[in-house]
Amino acid sequence: MKYVYAFEEGKKEMKNLLGGKGANLAEMTNIGLPVPRGFTITTEACTKYYEDNKTITKEMEDEIFSKLEELENKTNKKMGDINNPLLVSVRSGSRASMPGMMDTVLNLGLNDEVVEGFAKATNNPRFAYDSYRRFIQMFSDVVKGYPKASFERFFDKIKEEKNVKNDLELTAEDMKEVAEKFKLNYKELSKEEFPQNPKQQLMEAIKAVFRSWMNERAIVYRRLNDIPSDWGTAVNIQEMVYGNRGNDCGTGVAFTRNPSTGEKKLYGEYLINAQGEDVVAGIRTPEPISKLESEMPEVYNEFVKIANLLENHYKDMQDMEFTIENNKLFMLQTRNGKRTAQAALRVAVELVKENMITKEEALMKVEPKQLDQLLHPNFDVESLKNAKIIANGLAASPGAAAGKIYFTAEDVVDAAKTEKNVLLVRLETSPEDIEGMNSCKGILTVRGGMTSHAAVVARGMGKCCVCGCGELKIDEENKTLTTKDNKVYKEGDYLSLDGSTGNVYGELVKTVDPEISGDFKEFMSWADEVKTLKIRTNADTPKDAKKALEFGAEGIGLCRTEHMFFEADRIFAVRQMIVAETLEQREKALEKILPMQRNDFEELFKTMKGFPVTIRYLDPPLHEFLPHTKEEIEELSKELSLTYDDLKSRIDSLHEFNPMMGHRGCRLAVTYPEIAKMQTQAVIEAAINVNKEGMNVIPEIMIPLVGELKELKYVKDVVVKTADEIIKNSNVNLEYKVGTMIEIPRAALLADEIAKEAEFFSFGTNDLTQMTYGFSRDDAAKFLNEYYSKNIFEFDPFQRLDQNGVGQLVKMAVEKGKLTRPNIKLGICGEHGGEPSSVEFCHNIGLNYVSCSPFRVPIARLAAAQAKLKELK
Ligand code: PEP
Ligand code: MG
Repeated sequence: MKYVYAFEEGKKEMKNLLGGKGANLAEMTNIGLPVPRGFTITTEACTKYYEDNKTITKEMEDEIFSKLEELENKTNKKMGDINNPLLVSVRSGSRASMPGMMDTVLNLGLNDEVVEGFAKATNNPRFAYDSYRRFIQMFSDVVKGYPKASFERFFDKIKEEKNVKNDLELTAEDMKEVAEKFKLNYKELSKEEFPQNPKQQLMEAIKAVFRSWMNERAIVYRRLNDIPSDWGTAVNIQEMVYGNRGNDCGTGVAFTRNPSTGEKKLYGEYLINAQGEDVVAGIRTPEPISKLESEMPEVYNEFVKIANLLENHYKDMQDMEFTIENNKLFMLQTRNGKRTAQAALRVAVELVKENMITKEEALMKVEPKQLDQLLHPNFDVESLKNAKIIANGLAASPGAAAGKIYFTAEDVVDAAKTEKNVLLVRLETSPEDIEGMNSCKGILTVRGGMTSHAAVVARGMGKCCVCGCGELKIDEENKTLTTKDNKVYKEGDYLSLDGSTGNVYGELVKTVDPEISGDFKEFMSWADEVKTLKIRTNADTPKDAKKALEFGAEGIGLCRTEHMFFEADRIFAVRQMIVAETLEQREKALEKILPMQRNDFEELFKTMKGFPVTIRYLDPPLHEFLPHTKEEIEELSKELSLTYDDLKSRIDSLHEFNPMMGHRGCRLAVTYPEIAKMQTQAVIEAAINVNKEGMNVIPEIMIPLVGELKELKYVKDVVVKTADEIIKNSNVNLEYKVGTMIEIPRAALLADEIAKEAEFFSFGTNDLTQMTYGFSRDDAAKFLNEYYSKNIFEFDPFQRLDQNGVGQLVKMAVEKGKLTRPNIKLGICGEHGGEPSSVEFCHNIGLNYVSCSPFRVPIARLAAAQAKLKELK
């Protein structure tokens, strides 16, 4: 087994083994770009490290040292050599980029003696000691986990003593003093001297990078981005080049196109006399890349040439890191750049127009999940007119967000449990804030540029973000934000953020849904040309259905009829039906419900313009529908001419210990067939009415929560008898279908029998997941977090279909269903129908359609197209 590869031995196709960073460093090396030399320890080495109980075997260590020796020979430098030391960076790099989630150590190889030699050799003692103090701090943080702040306080103190603001004003002696203080701090914390042996430093750093794969923030990031934990991270060891060596040095990051808008123009920023982390950390404000043209024209021109070359080579927008050492340019990284959805579409469409890629390749370049961003709210133009801008920062990630402000990630997570709209306000964010960033609607930071952590992560999440808003003063301790004109905003106050302009408003501004056009339409039409899976929507109202049609839905896969009764005046009728004790009482309630239902269905059929509509019969989990408050019970008792106490005891008698497995679904129709009768009358009469107006609706009636053929047959008989009688009396021809949901494991097991009666199956994977795992849908969130942090689960099975378990039931039911009824129509309508990996699964097992909420229809369309393209590959 080979665990270590020199850059010369790798290539871009080896991403799985070398990680993204390693594979691309190898590729750049091999196409002749200026890359500092180095080697990569593979992702498999990381997996092996974990298999071996977090140890590096002697063989692996030998392999690392032998590659190190090769590197020493290539560079003519030696680790630990006082006169000519090799110093290296140690960086993580997994298959999928996980910005800022794992660890990096720079300037490794320095010790008390080497730093002196280094100062002499470079003739730059300030630089040498600056590098040493940075190394001590990074090593302590990454390898030992000592807080950065415990080091920074010494640094701040010296700056204060010397009365300087900027790090650059500190002298060589100052830096030496800082390094000494850092070492003492290290000793105090670890009770050991700072390690002086460079090879020991190296091995410790490599292990720390491996360990960082399992840090809390990396685990959360992987869960949010569907990255499996067994991928592991590679480690890149690379000769250091220095951007902090003087004024002919610098470092920066740049994109070949604008990652916010997609505009084809070099975009980025750099800092003179600085090391990489200074740019990202937002300690000094970087200059726009265009300024480099006048400052260092030759370097700039070379960089532009390389940027173009890389974009052509990778056929995608590149995100590059570079360092300039004494006027010489070095490339430290290139990767396909993270971008907003808007930019992703524009880049994909323009790359096709520039003949760089095909439409099919373009389709594979956009993350389906990302499309969500495009569909997120903007500010209502009218409300915005009157809103007052209190500050302006960088427009880091588009969209609009308005809500109550909170100052720590934990507070946001807490507040989001009860508040719908919560904003995270921070001085700057760090990877520890990831959960808060995920739970909020928008992010505002006071410090940091367009490539700061907040900006990069928010863009990836598709979350509105305004960053670097330096005119606001934040007091993190007292949780306040103060504007230029001294207005103070406290925790819980309202702000609104515009991630497309950088404006911050000091009040709650109304937001509205976005409009879709241009690149989106064109791009999505390519997806529709390719995909074979149909995309339907889960919609209960004409409004939802209309939205879904705009987003490209090709039918309704699930209309939850009980949801048509959520409004106050309607839920009353349903409650009346539920608590009815006699047939007479129930029929009285159903009489009220019938016209509402019929009318709703007519509207729905009309809205859907002939696309198929699946109507699911009532499935109200009783606990969601029974009256709870005293007032509600009182009101209902009057209507039913019952005393309060009588009604209360009736309600109590309906109490269920486990309502999710209670008297719901078809069980209700079995007990009270008059409910199914009423619903059939409403569906059939509505269809007849609209067909008389020239439509051609074939309603699909869906019976929920079936686990037994006879149960389905009993309800179906009621439906067919009622429907056929109405059709006969109406003297029109109406076709209709009766099918079932497969959402109980028993129904999946006996799908061949069920298919004798069911003309279609729709997989209700919400209940199927609940019942296969035995996890309550309503309560699982309470313990799933423990499952993630203990690495038992990597994702929420209620969001992403568990293909191994639940998926196996679905697959089996498909096969069995087809045995009985080869042309049986198959779909899915659980939440999973809008989740890309689940959509791919549905495509692969041969479903006809997936059905998902309106806003996820575009995601499903693209995921379906990608699934087809993968199949054709
Ligand atoms: C399901 O169980 O997957 C389903 C779609 O039905 P509901 O969510 O209404 O139970
Ligand atoms: Mg269900």
